[in-house]
Amino acid sequence: MDAAQRDEYLELLGLEVCPAAPAKPAAKAAAVAPAKPSPPAAAPLASPAPEPAKPARRKLTAEQPAPAAAPAPKLADADIANLDWQALAAKVAACTACGLHQRRTQTVFGVGAQSGSLMLVGEGPGEQEDLLGEPFVGAAGQLLDNMLAAIGRSRSADTYIANVVKCRPPGNRKPQEDEAAACSAYLDRQIALVGPKLLVALGGAAAARLLGQDTPVGKLRGQIHDYQGTPVIVTYHPAYYLRKPADKRKGWDDLKRIRALLAE
Ligand code: SF4
Repeated sequence: MDAAQRDEYLELLGLEVCPAAPAKPAAKAAAVAPAKPSPPAAAPLASPAPEPAKPARRKLTAEQPAPAAAPAPKLADADIANLDWQALAAKVAACTACGLHQRRTQTVFGVGAQSGSLMLVGEGPGEQEDLLGEPFVGAAGQLLDNMLAAIGRSRSADTYIANVVKCRPPGNRKPQEDEAAACSAYLDRQIALVGPKLLVALGGAAAARLLGQDTPVGKLRGQIHDYQGTPVIVTYHPAYYLRKPADKRKGWDDLKRIRALLAE
C-alpha cells in the first residue's frame, strides 16, 4: 500500500492519517536476555532467510508497567525448545497432540519476517486460513495488512504473524484452554526464534496465552505487559473491528502506541 492508498484507506475508516513513521533503527537495541541460537538457512515460509545470530530482546520503557510475572512455558515436548525453523514447521505439520488435528485441512504455522522486530499473535486459523495454510487471510487479514501498512509495516518485511493454535477450531470458535496448552510449545519456540522487540496479542485468547490471565481485552489495552522479558501490547482481533467498525478508533490508538514503542 502506498501513502495515497493508506490515506484513502484511513479516510474510509473515518480515521486520521498518521504522520510518516520515524526512521526504524538499523539494529535491535540493548539486550536483557541471552542471545538466541542461530536459525537455519532453510525456511519453509515465505519470508527472508533468518539471520545468523540475533541480538537479545530489548525491554522497552513501560509507561504503565504491568506485573512482571509471566506464564511458565507449557512445553509438550522439551525437544521443541531446541528446534530450528524447518524442524519446528515439520513438527507442527505432523502434530496430533490435540483434537483440532482431526478436522484440519492443514496446519497453519506462521508467516512473515522470521527475525522481525514486531510479532503478532492471533487466536487460531479460520476457514480461509485452514484452506490456504497462512494466518490472517480474508477480510480480517486484509484489514490487518492495511493497519500494518498505515504504520509502515508489512508481514513480508518486518513483522511475523502466528496463532495460539495451528489448527482450525471448528466453527471458528476460540481455542479451548487445553488446545492452547497442547500447542503452547510451538508458539513459545516461534517467539524465541523471532526474538521480537514487541509482541502484540490480537484478541482475548492470544492475550490469555501470552499473559496467563483471562482478562477482557478492554481492560488490558493501554498497558505494556510482559511475556518472558518481551513487552506485550494487547488489542482487539481484526475480526472484532469488522464486526464493530465504530471501535476502529481504538485499534488506531493501539497502532500508534505500537509504532511509538518500536521507534524507541
Ligand atoms: S492445534 Fe497445535 S497441538 Fe493441536 S493438533 Fe494442531 S498443531 Fe498440534
